Amino acid sequence: THFGFKTVAASEKESLVADVFHSVAAKYDLMNDLMSGGIHRVWKRFTIDCSGIRRGQRVLDLAGGTGDLTARFSRLVGDDGQVVLADINSSMLKVGRDKLRNIGVLGNVSYVQANAEALPFPDNHFDLITIAFGLRNVTDKDKALASMLRVLKPGGRLLVLEFSKPQIKLLSKVYDAYSFHLLPKMGEAVLNDGASYQYLAESIRMHPDQDTLKQMMETQGFEQVNYYNLTGGIVALHRGFKF
Ligand code: SAM
Repeated sequence: THFGFKTVAASEKESLVADVFHSVAAKYDLMNDLMSGGIHRVWKRFTIDCSGIRRGQRVLDLAGGTGDLTARFSRLVGDDGQVVLADINSSMLKVGRDKLRNIGVLGNVSYVQANAEALPFPDNHFDLITIAFGLRNVTDKDKALASMLRVLKPGGRLLVLEFSKPQIKLLSKVYDAYSFHLLPKMGEAVLNDGASYQYLAESIRMHPDQDTLKQMMETQGFEQVNYYNLTGGIVALHRGFKF
């Protein structure tokens, strides 16, 4: 199948995204390592380094999936801190919860099934929100950013880790070839599911570039918005504050 993602209506996008993540959940971590050659670990470590996280703080790992960031934050905030892993997809949440429990991450982590567009948390609640490789799957990104701003405390920060626009033409070509040809084949070979990885490639291409996302964050009211290109802009980390 070809998802023809550009032409589908908003509600259809939501069910496509649900299908994709129900389908890949069990092998999500394996595919992540294979597809990125393990580099996603470096991108996530950079995100942690930019988080300014301290003991006792409250973190929302939004679209947290299988919980790589949650596991690290759980250790960093300690026993008086709190980490909420929120994800819209029950399969991803279950895989994440089982994995974190197996590696001994307990106590200060809770799991919430929620849509980023309508977060079920009080105003001014979190010191930090991260959304890693999640925003591009959200149908109404402006609504989601507004919802994140609402639940952040004044002084809190948002980190958006997401695929972005490669900064060099040649890199961009190589990367397109990789994502549109090799990636769906890998999805087919490992998961018997080329379609999900076709969606992935399309969603990456459709996602706003660095400056557009920065602008979108500013429009919703985030301040001092900045971004860092990682791996030549294949991925970018955007940071914004609520004051
Ligand atoms: N953050 C994890 C990581 O970096 O490995 C998981 C990223 S995974 C590519 C994207 C996640 O976004 C999936 O678990 C999916 O269910 C979730 N997601 C998609 N749309 C969402 C929405 N509207 N609200 C919350 N989570 C969503």
